[in-house]
Amino acid sequence: MEEPERVQIQVCRKGHLINEAVQFDPSANRKFCPSCGSETIIECSNCNALLTSADANPYRSVVIPAYCCECGGSFPWTENAIKAAFEFADELNVLDAQDKSDLKAAVPDLTSDTARTPLAVSRLQRLFTKIGKPAARTLTQILVTVLTDEAKKQLGLS
Ligand SMILES: [Zn+2]
Ligand SMILES: [Zn+2]
Repeated sequence: MEEPERVQIQVCRKGHLINEAVQFDPSANRKFCPSCGSETIIECSNCNALLTSADANPYRSVVIPAYCCECGGSFPWTENAIKAAFEFADELNVLDAQDKSDLKAAVPDLTSDTARTPLAVSRLQRLFTKIGKPAARTLTQILVTVLTDEAKKQLGLS
């Protein structure tokens, strides 16, 4: 029996899913994103590997990948989210320099499941307490598209 192919997808540079069936319905591809006007991509700009759902099971819903599974490069939406999270942290006066560097060290560990993810989650939760609910909510919104399922679960988001 043949292995089912991975689901090829088109995504805009901000991380919106445009076409979740590039192989079967290429006519649903768009040049620009209808939600945000960003350019769309169907391949990694670094290694030209086609974008595929991060969930290898083609029968489950499409999961937009944070990193290229061929070259390991981060996608534009991942970089954007990480950069926005850093900028937001820099504006939070309640955080001292150590907190800010803890947060910056934690964020990449929340976008990929590693042995350090639980540590990153617990650091983030400590910082959430310090920055208060509204700021914690904003930071979560910035990061939610690139958080791994495991990180979301541990943060109580899924
Ligand atoms: Zn978009
Ligand atoms: Zn790549």
